[in-house]
Amino acid sequence: MSKISIGLRGWRFDEEEVFTEDDELRPLEELSEDTRKRLVRLSDIADSVCDACWLIHGDENIAECAPAEAVYGEPVAEVVVCGDHEDDLIYWFREEGGDRYAGDDEFRDAFHEWFLEGGRAPEGYEGIQHVETEPEDLPEPPEVDDEARREQWEATERKSMRDEELDLSQEYPGSDD
Ligand SMILES: [Zn+2]
Repeated sequence: MSKISIGLRGWRFDEEEVFTEDDELRPLEELSEDTRKRLVRLSDIADSVCDACWLIHGDENIAECAPAEAVYGEPVAEVVVCGDHEDDLIYWFREEGGDRYAGDDEFRDAFHEWFLEGGRAPEGYEGIQHVETEPEDLPEPPEVDDEARREQWEATERKSMRDEELDLSQEYPGSDD
């Protein structure tokens, strides 16, 4: 069974679970709980800006932020990063003890804290081989209506922050890489 990413690199799905033979996304009800959660979450975050860029530039300079290309961690506690900052995340995870937060609700906060304190991958660190397809070549996450989303997410703190970013990010001219 082949694994694919949807919307952003990082999270992987079983192609046969998620798509029909005609390459259509299956209805969410047919998917496992974990898969459904991630897909619903992706429909929220696939168009967001990179967390690390946002920590640097903030809402005031949201136009300076690169779009998210990859997602790590668990839904709602996930980190989304652009290609450049993906190396920092991988470095944190592998070399700075970030792996102890794998599967943990603290994942995002722990990375943000490290990054805000100046944590970065060393110059030239090859975090991940970018042989995978670019995000624009990945299948789109499903359209999820607000009602279905509310069934998934009780915690909305992150979501509301994201909503602001999404609204603001619609006008930005795109990544500079
Ligand atoms: Zn970034």
